[in-house]
Amino acid sequence: MISNDEIASILERFGGLLRLTGENPFRARAYLHAADTIRHLAEPSVDLAAGDRLREIAGIGEGIASVVAEIAATGSFRALDSLSARYPPSLLDLLALPGVGPKTVIRLYGEFGIADLAGVEAAVSRGVFRDAKGLGQRFEGDLQIGLAAVRARDGRIPIGRALPAARSLQAALRRLLPGRVEIAGGVRRFAETVDRLSVVVEADNVAVTTAAIASMPLVVKVAEQRDDRLRVRLQSGEESDIVLAKPSEFGVVLLRATGPASHIACLGPLPHEAGDETQVYAALGLPWIPPELRSTETDWSDLARITALIGRADLRGDLHCHSTWSDGSAPIAAMESAAAALGYDYLGITDHSRGLGVARGLDVGRLRAQRREIVGLTGGIDVLQGAEVEVHRDGRLDYDDETLASLDIVVASLHSGLRQDRATLTDRLIRTIANPHVDIIAHPSGRLIDRRPGGDIDWPRAFAAAAEHGVALEINSDPSRLDLDAEMAHDALAAGCLLSINCDAHSPESFELIEFGIAVARQAGATVDRVINAWPLEQLRHWLAERGRQPRPDLPGEV
Ligand SMILES: [Zn+2]
Ligand SMILES: [Zn+2]
Repeated sequence: MISNDEIASILERFGGLLRLTGENPFRARAYLHAADTIRHLAEPSVDLAAGDRLREIAGIGEGIASVVAEIAATGSFRALDSLSARYPPSLLDLLALPGVGPKTVIRLYGEFGIADLAGVEAAVSRGVFRDAKGLGQRFEGDLQIGLAAVRARDGRIPIGRALPAARSLQAALRRLLPGRVEIAGGVRRFAETVDRLSVVVEADNVAVTTAAIASMPLVVKVAEQRDDRLRVRLQSGEESDIVLAKPSEFGVVLLRATGPASHIACLGPLPHEAGDETQVYAALGLPWIPPELRSTETDWSDLARITALIGRADLRGDLHCHSTWSDGSAPIAAMESAAAALGYDYLGITDHSRGLGVARGLDVGRLRAQRREIVGLTGGIDVLQGAEVEVHRDGRLDYDDETLASLDIVVASLHSGLRQDRATLTDRLIRTIANPHVDIIAHPSGRLIDRRPGGDIDWPRAFAAAAEHGVALEINSDPSRLDLDAEMAHDALAAGCLLSINCDAHSPESFELIEFGIAVARQAGATVDRVINAWPLEQLRHWLAERGRQPRPDLPGEV
């Protein structure tokens, strides 16, 4: 049963969004007030609503009482759904930034398409507010401070932000110091989130090195210092451990600082001296174990097991990305040349179908126009016309069969209704998998790390269905998703499923995110034969043909 707390949060979200729009301040206040009341009720509000007693409580009128009943039945309510379709609830997070009120949030969304804190962060780093009327450099500076404060409050740092931050710290330290500087900790292992960054620096003279680090402009504050290690607060808001190591011990110190403790414990007593990690492992009779594998429970003592894993260089293409045809930031040609620059042989352009309102989804007419553009491309690699097709709450796909059959590849996605109950959601996913026109399931669980858990799905059944129908499950490399995660991808492989590791790139730069997906795939134990976009184009085409795809039949209405 849904708790008072959960109901209160849902009402709060609605009240917050209403207040954002400024359309009906009284209604907004009524919902926020009701949320507060329900949060403090002693009895479950679901019971009260069922007994028609909720209306008797002060501040809860008939309207809100029936909304609570609707939430109890469906997990949401219609007015919230339609408001969230216009204004993503993540907009409410922006109000935590100093100097940002409802009007500014609406402007950031309407004018700059910014829907969440990550969007603000990206916009600040691109300097888009600098010349914007009424915003400017001052506004940008305030945002920077605000973002750092929000991050510090939230505690854990997602890998998508931690890795770039660790790399800039590493680069700055390398400019400053003569010796080796290596990233360590959870960041090096591609953990999903970390408490803080960690780097190991090679140092002969501890006092000199420590003083040099403390005086770096990047370091706002030295929070702690003892012997051979510092904890510093960085300008960007994160904390980092900086561990100093003598050259002769660098390998041992780096290994320990990388962790995790379970891996170190498994290794047993370590040698006292070793210049690099390879020497440490060699002394233990082991091959060098790549950091991203150290948190898995697999036995990596056999080098062949490690070399069999998929690597970034094995990928031949990406099969899920967006262009300006829907919500991407670059034209198809720019996405193509970025993929070509990475050495890919093919690229699947999979813009959103029309059902996803906010993303300017394509109808069949625009698909036809898009095909003409794709046919005319001259970038030198093979561009497949696909689509990321919306799976509606009732399980319907957004395109009819004829349209689906005329695409080169179909990626299906559940973006909405992820709070449906286990039976409904599992059935919806399995019916999608069983649809003969679906080739890949994108971000299968729908989770957003630290923001939204994945859907409640019977995974063994879903994996069995995917294996049976030969549908590939995605490892979405976007670090805010990493979906499937390593454990699920491992189970999917064990069930006989194929995988596809994609970036879901919305800009040419985002193809770089593939390193996150590759780390997940390696942790899952994936090998080239099981990852469809590690196959040569010919093999991929053969697979698609076996799934019943003809070489690009006309789209409906084509003359
Ligand atoms: Zn998607
Ligand atoms: Zn997508």
